[in-house]
Amino acid sequence: MNDTFNVSSIRRDFPILSREVNGKPLVYFDNAATSQTPQQVIDVIVDYYSTYNANIHRGVHALSQEATDKYEQARHTIQKHFNIAKAHEVIFTSGTTHSINLVANGFSALLQSGDEIIVSALEHHSNIVPWQMLCERTGAILKVIPMNLDGELLMDAYQNLLSTKTKLVFCNHVSNALGTVNPIKQIINKAHEVGAAVLIDGAQAAPHIKADMQELNVDFYTVSAHKMCGPTGTGILYGKEEWLNKLPPYQGGGEMIAEVTFEKTTYADLPHKFEAGTPNICGGIAFAAALDYMSGIGFQTIAEYEHELLSYATEQLLTIDKLKIYGTAKEKTSVISFNIEGLHPYDIGSILDKLGVAVRTGHHCAQPIMDFYKIPGTIRASFSFYNTKDEIDILVEGVKRAQNMLQ
Ligand SMILES: *Cc1c(COP(=O)(O)O)cnc(C)c1O
Repeated sequence: MNDTFNVSSIRRDFPILSREVNGKPLVYFDNAATSQTPQQVIDVIVDYYSTYNANIHRGVHALSQEATDKYEQARHTIQKHFNIAKAHEVIFTSGTTHSINLVANGFSALLQSGDEIIVSALEHHSNIVPWQMLCERTGAILKVIPMNLDGELLMDAYQNLLSTKTKLVFCNHVSNALGTVNPIKQIINKAHEVGAAVLIDGAQAAPHIKADMQELNVDFYTVSAHKMCGPTGTGILYGKEEWLNKLPPYQGGGEMIAEVTFEKTTYADLPHKFEAGTPNICGGIAFAAALDYMSGIGFQTIAEYEHELLSYATEQLLTIDKLKIYGTAKEKTSVISFNIEGLHPYDIGSILDKLGVAVRTGHHCAQPIMDFYKIPGTIRASFSFYNTKDEIDILVEGVKRAQNMLQ
């Protein structure tokens, strides 16, 4: 553990962590749904609206230029963080859902009936539904990489699904429901061997793992700012230049055009071809501030500390009678999905809420995983670097109390 990591001082950066819920100090364990925002990022948002709010890329006036400079600087910060070769390979979007839909829509023009695309069994609905819609439009066929009871993908089965018919493979880097870290380097390399492109949904990985786009040699990678200390409604699509050039624009409008007449419109260069309309300017700038904040602590330090929390919580929760953890992959981020035999996750979640503990209950936008385990849902506790072992003790006591009340 890095000696300079001091969780009490980090917690002071997050105003929301000192509030109470139902008369109890907030214990926020729903980080896989959205993370909390440090004062440093809140300040950037306030500064934007207080001092230089203006539309970008089109004004001659000072505020517009200032906003444009900050927005393009943010693109560079994001580019550097993910080791992306070219700034115009960073497309600002409203988040992972938007990023995936952009690519799925673009592939309508590139697929033919009978082509195959491969998804993993571990996906969030936003990395399933856009591809099903793509299959309906094109006649392409969706194949699924199966998983085992630990929540790990079966790589031999994946190998067997691949063929020259495979055009695209999409998979998350980390599962939001179970926390499994998928072997994406292997998934990418094998897909490339048959000439298929790969999209990795990085929404759940980016808060914990600093992914290197050039080293991964991935074709598309998606990130949502709100899961890594940034604001909602902002994210990116990373795309290799050659692929972004092949895809048609997603939305038509201002900013994405070179020239418009009623006879014909030509499109702007990257990245603007995919950035129609006024974007979430403040959001993009705040996303970069969130990356700066987390980099200041260090992604390695964050991962090590979160791993400590994961081990401690796993150990403590398993002392509870009849508690079962779903997702026991060797490589996991700090997510624990669990149930108590005979009790409904929602009832336990409601009692935890009364105690100030925020967890998620339900299918976590990943119904196929719940179907695999034949359960309606789980209780999911997901930890961030600003959480503590004391908070985990409160969770464990709360679960025991709920069990006593409900049994
Ligand atoms: C949160 C999440 C999404 C959806 O992200 P949005 O920000 O809601 O668009 C997709 N995939 C995974 C793995 C996620 O965790």
